[in-house]
Amino acid sequence: MIRLKVNHKEVELAEGANLMQALLGMGYDIPHLCYYEGLEHHTSCMLCLVKDARTGALMPSCSVKAQPDMEVITDDEEIFEMRQAALDLLLSDHVGDCEAPCTKACPAHMNIPLMIRKLQEGKTDEALAVVMTDIALPGVLGRICSAPCEKICRRKDIDEPVSICLLKRYAADFGQYAPPFDPDPALQGKKLAVIGAGPAGLAVAYHARLRGLDCTIFEKAPLAGGQLRAIDEAILPKAVLDREIAFIKSTGVRFELGKAIDKAAFLHLRERFDAVVVAAGPMEEQMRDWGIETYQQGILANRSTYETNLPGVFAIGSVLKPMKMAIKSLGHGKEASYSAIQYLKGEKVKGEPGIFNSRFGRILPEEVQEFLKESTDHHRAEPIYGLAKGLEPEEVTEEAARCIHCDCRGIESCKLRIYADAYRADQKRFGGEDNRRAVKKVIENGPVLFEPAKCIKCGICVRLTAQHQEAFGMTFIGRGFDIEVGVPFNELLQKGLDEIAGEVVRACPTGALAFNAKSIKK
Ligand code: SF4
Ligand code: SF4
Ligand code: SF4
Repeated sequence: MIRLKVNHKEVELAEGANLMQALLGMGYDIPHLCYYEGLEHHTSCMLCLVKDARTGALMPSCSVKAQPDMEVITDDEEIFEMRQAALDLLLSDHVGDCEAPCTKACPAHMNIPLMIRKLQEGKTDEALAVVMTDIALPGVLGRICSAPCEKICRRKDIDEPVSICLLKRYAADFGQYAPPFDPDPALQGKKLAVIGAGPAGLAVAYHARLRGLDCTIFEKAPLAGGQLRAIDEAILPKAVLDREIAFIKSTGVRFELGKAIDKAAFLHLRERFDAVVVAAGPMEEQMRDWGIETYQQGILANRSTYETNLPGVFAIGSVLKPMKMAIKSLGHGKEASYSAIQYLKGEKVKGEPGIFNSRFGRILPEEVQEFLKESTDHHRAEPIYGLAKGLEPEEVTEEAARCIHCDCRGIESCKLRIYADAYRADQKRFGGEDNRRAVKKVIENGPVLFEPAKCIKCGICVRLTAQHQEAFGMTFIGRGFDIEVGVPFNELLQKGLDEIAGEVVRACPTGALAFNAKSIKK
């Protein structure tokens, strides 16, 4: 055994122990991408850097043996910056979208490609579940949304955007959905008052209720719905609005209709409820009278958390500025539910959690065929019986098949994304989108999807397939900057990953190798 210090504490280790394995074994969080337990190691990602305090030298802990008298520091500002730089470098050559552009553009951040895959598989109920994770009024929005997602849909770089809004409407009109009531024990007995039953108020109550808050909406009008009720019946039938409000009510949200809130009532609400969300349309003067700070542009509220100057009072929707898009109000409602819950749990109020998102711009002409491998070349479907009727089932299948699935199929397990977030990586630091690698998709209708432009060349798949003596396996092809990973002799991916495809996909630290939930080729 040898003695050394780790973060100023004396430890004993077996002589010749691998430093990173020893540190991981001691419970230190040492980031790593190219190390895989049980495989012979080769250093490439440089994330596992630690410092020897005696010399100040940084070293990749994965390839260093513990030595007597070492004084290892596992984390400090310099180590953080070097790991961050290593990630920035990896990401500068990384071409992929973690979340699809449509999802990012949707103010409610709905997982659009997942909804589309569910519809394509004929799983309408599951498609609706995806929608209602983020959108409280799917049938309403399916009829009136101005669809910022479609304006950014990458399919328009090929022909026309996917008809996302009508697909969502189909899921809403024909899917069955039981909301996943997931009460947080820490919120038991906590009460939220919402002032206003328009889209923002309905949304905040819906999302907060599903997490277990006792929610009551106060509305001065005799019916809930706010401005949505003023929309022409031919565009938004009242039956659709009423059905979705009834659904929100069925989750346990209480409605007190015909109840205007004046100053006395507001003060009373603050006494009776643990938090209040004001979502009642423009009412700046009234709110000032209630003690809520304003400025020239209106109500003074944090634009990420919606907190006002009054503790536990949040302001959303048209209270902040006139909202032309109902989906923006719904997005505010969903985000504010996070803030209210954080506040009620005594946590730091941060609003909706976000995470690093790799992204690239437009599709290059030479990439069109690659993206069409997961899609069809049909043009956008126009509803045969007109917009008022929406899409027919065959049109849904055909339209859903047009999506080119911009989201990353490895998103759930990608370590690169997790570290990029933890180290606040900047994908543009070492170069932008000019001269980026072209996207290739190796699909072959098999269980695995390979996207070389997301590969960080860690070599895990190469070493793992060699260790398992795959007949072809994966290999490094080329040299220097142009080196790529692939199957030797241009063989099919399925031949390279014949025996241990599942293990290799799980071992890949990025979404370069991912399970192909959908092997579509029409
Ligand atoms: S591989 Fe990881 S970082 Fe890259 S796009 Fe996929 S999830 Fe994002
Ligand atoms: S093609 Fe599909 S995944 Fe890509 S932006 Fe459009 S709807 Fe979203
Ligand atoms: S494809 Fe292979 S080399 Fe590339 S990131 Fe995944 S495991 Fe590493």
